[in-house]
Amino acid sequence: MTTQGQLLIGGEWTAGTKGSTFDTRDPATGEVIGTAIEATSADVDAAVEAARRAFNDPAWRDMTPAARGRLLWRIADLIEENAAELAQLESADQGQSVGFATGTMHGAAEMFRYYAGWPTKITGVTSPVSVPGMLHYTRREPVGVCALITPWNFPLAIAVWKLAPALATGNTVVLKPAEQTPLTTLRLGQLLLDAGVPAGVVNVVTGGPEVGKALVNHPGVDKVSFTGSTEVGREIVRASAGNLKRVSLELGGKAPSIVLKDADLSAAVMGNLFGGLVNAGQACAAYSRFYVDSSRADEFVEKLAGAVANFKVGPGSDPETMLGPLVTAEHREKVESYVRSGVEAGAEIVTGGKRPEALGNGYFFEPTIFTNVDDSMAIARDEIFGPVLPIITYDSPDDLVERANNTDYGLVACVWTQDVARAHRLAHQIRAGEVYINTYPQLDPAAPWGGFKASGWGREMTEEALNSYTETKGIWVNIGS
Ligand code: NAD
Repeated sequence: MTTQGQLLIGGEWTAGTKGSTFDTRDPATGEVIGTAIEATSADVDAAVEAARRAFNDPAWRDMTPAARGRLLWRIADLIEENAAELAQLESADQGQSVGFATGTMHGAAEMFRYYAGWPTKITGVTSPVSVPGMLHYTRREPVGVCALITPWNFPLAIAVWKLAPALATGNTVVLKPAEQTPLTTLRLGQLLLDAGVPAGVVNVVTGGPEVGKALVNHPGVDKVSFTGSTEVGREIVRASAGNLKRVSLELGGKAPSIVLKDADLSAAVMGNLFGGLVNAGQACAAYSRFYVDSSRADEFVEKLAGAVANFKVGPGSDPETMLGPLVTAEHREKVESYVRSGVEAGAEIVTGGKRPEALGNGYFFEPTIFTNVDDSMAIARDEIFGPVLPIITYDSPDDLVERANNTDYGLVACVWTQDVARAHRLAHQIRAGEVYINTYPQLDPAAPWGGFKASGWGREMTEEALNSYTETKGIWVNIGS
């Protein structure tokens, strides 16, 4: 059975103005599992107008903080109640295992619960101005209509990272999921209506880059929150200049994972394996270049290859699966071209490097370990976004910080050592938004998420995200002397 998606505009599901559709496929089989509408620019206009009307509607604008908090909590409950169905849908559309997707659905519910607590706690200040007879205070007010544009790797989770703080602060939204994976976002649209989100507060438009561009260029949009590639992030910055939209960007990464001589190697192997192969390596935070002390490199590679050999590659619907398919056939070709480039540059494949046999028409690729890698190779520099683990050995730790920082990206880094002081020193010196010590990447609504350098602008989660969805207004009152 395939799902027929529509657009959500002004609280109604609609086929839009043109009705052209595109297919979405199960990456484990290559089969079409749904269709969605390619929104036209007229549909985008309608969605932005609906969001503007809802922004000015007292039903939303004047909703009390307590009521807003309760609404967010109801959304969380509905996500949780429907977690099993959402996880099946995410797995079928994106490829990740159902078990993993179930975890991300509960994480999404927790994100809404975290932000449900905030509307009653967003305060301004009274300002100690030195002008006689004046009272000054500040309010934090919503930015307005926000375009939320998301990628295909964690479709529902990333939509929620943006939606929850946007709604907690009273904004209205036009949400555009990635064209490869629209299904859970469409389902979320219905859950939002069921929870009682007023018509037009959240609109969902589906389609490809043209739909994203129409939103980013739209004079009726006040803010863009984008997660995706660095290249598109740059385009968005340029396109947003017209009405000087507020822009938040969560972009690519090329996370170094540094294994020092004194590391607990068993922990480092398992942590790096999960950190590198999470969602088949299709994660912006994935560890994707491994600096390993040369005196421990053989042992590390041997243990890593041994663990990879037990990694079951298969469809996300199989509970035994540890590594699902890549999201599309084109993306697998991109990963394969990186693997070829590694071989041509002189790196050696220890294991993997090809499509697994006997897995049908799915877009599977074996987990691949490279040795004999140096910093200049494309596999050590570019974001591959696949299950490829390049091992770079080092003799001296003296220039590790410089090598870790020698990248345009700065999202995530990791250090494995038992020397606590050294771990903290390295964590302070590495230019990345998140540094993990002796663990694979973790996420929590109470921990800021985002990158340095070309990995983005701003932070998601925490109070920082709330600030990015509000403007500060100062109010002067002449109270006389
Ligand atoms: P992408 O940049 O190709 O597309 C992301 C979204 O932007 C899609 O919805 C797409 O339709 C839309 N889009 C494409 N061109 C556009 C344009 N010119 N204007 C407006 N919208 C446009 O990225 P992707 O391939 O879907 O996702 C993979 C990338 O996302 C990787 O680089 C990854 O690192 C990054 N990512 C970052 C984070 C983070 O938190 N930093 C999280 C997940 C993914």
